[in-house]
Amino acid sequence: MAEESLMEKIVSLCKRRGFVYQGSEIYGGFPGTYDYGPYGVELANNIRAAWWRAMVQHENNIVGLDSAIFTNPKVWEASGHVSGFSDPLVECKSCHTRSRADHLLEAVGAFADEKMSIEEINTVFDTHRATITCPVCGKKEFTEVRRFNLLVQSNLGNFTGDWTKEPTYLRGETCQGIYINFKNVLDSARVKIPFGIAQIGKAFRNEIAPRQYIFRLRELTQMEMQMFVRPEDEMRVYEEWRAKRWQYYLDLGFDPKNLKWHEHENLVFYAKAAWDIEYKFPFGFKEMEGVHARGDYDLSQHQKFSGTDLSYFDEATKERFVPHIVETSVGLDRTFLAVMTEFYHEDTMGDDTRVVMRFPAKLAPIKAAVFPLLKNKPELVAKAREVYTMLKKDLRVEWDDNGNVGKRYRRQDEIGTPFCITIDFDTLGENPDLADTVTVRDRDTGEQKRIAIEDLSALLTEAIKA
Ligand SMILES: [Zn+2]
Repeated sequence: MAEESLMEKIVSLCKRRGFVYQGSEIYGGFPGTYDYGPYGVELANNIRAAWWRAMVQHENNIVGLDSAIFTNPKVWEASGHVSGFSDPLVECKSCHTRSRADHLLEAVGAFADEKMSIEEINTVFDTHRATITCPVCGKKEFTEVRRFNLLVQSNLGNFTGDWTKEPTYLRGETCQGIYINFKNVLDSARVKIPFGIAQIGKAFRNEIAPRQYIFRLRELTQMEMQMFVRPEDEMRVYEEWRAKRWQYYLDLGFDPKNLKWHEHENLVFYAKAAWDIEYKFPFGFKEMEGVHARGDYDLSQHQKFSGTDLSYFDEATKERFVPHIVETSVGLDRTFLAVMTEFYHEDTMGDDTRVVMRFPAKLAPIKAAVFPLLKNKPELVAKAREVYTMLKKDLRVEWDDNGNVGKRYRRQDEIGTPFCITIDFDTLGENPDLADTVTVRDRDTGEQKRIAIEDLSALLTEAIKA
């Protein structure tokens, strides 16, 4: 399978089966936004739940938070985003397409990143100027590289008519909401250092060139955890979290050969260490998650800008210090794309070639589909409805009586439903030995088993837990 075509297949499946749609599609789209459809929202919710389970439920010292998207604008001055959250931008002089200079440089084998000054980036860009081509028109004439701030501004709470002078910001990352609530959580949640705060939520970035589908978005969802630690424990805790986050992907069913660690070449001045977990997307290995040792920079900055004491007093040692932070940060949308890539398979079953999403049952949007063998036999339909109604109280199951059973299987395979349950004449007692049993067909093997209706819930619940 050519790499290019795998991406096209995933994008087309996502649209055809209602996982992901282009944002504002009937208006010709809106760059950097995508909408999750009926199966997409189920899958995304299951990814959130898996992350929350691993980060909050299974840990002893991590609590959750859901902070506001809008904050006092000073938060973004303290964090450094107002002055430094930018990408290097160049414009094609011929067709006026704006591109990220670092991406154009990467395409010719050169390197620039956000830690370099704009002068340094311009020097590298000038060295390679003769070989860099515009991705749209192919010409080689570009402006100087300049900084473009990625914070998205708004007029929230500003009624002056010229709010651009004192803008508020849609958050550029979710972790700032965690830092500014450190003291609240400390004072209200009976936590002691080391402890963590986890949050899932939207973040907004004025990406110059959103691209690669849901990989680089202007509106995205982050899943972030900040662990507050004693300064001397920072690197030990950091290594523990590196190991845990790697294991998390293995537990989700990822093949380790599709994952790799990438160490940041260039660290921001306050950081102690920064490694990314990269996933082998259809367009190559790219960052999925970052694990960072951030020192005391974040709380110190907010302490300075807010004037609020954010130090911690350790009762046991009688010491006072500003906690250091170990962060894990992953994009929900990137995880979604990785899950679609990882579990996309084409195989043959009998004489048929099929597309099958081999999602682990816990991630599958639909856990089981219930079919009456024939839709025009009222007794079959009534019995199947009974089974469907029983299961849907606890599990996300789907009813399907369209077309023949083979067609229904193919559709369920494409949305990754692990089990298809068929109610036939034996269920009704045509063969008395098989009364009140159903056929359960396994998505991955195609194998069919007779199972008693009363055992269905347990079978599905077990599979989801695994
Ligand atoms: Zn151009």
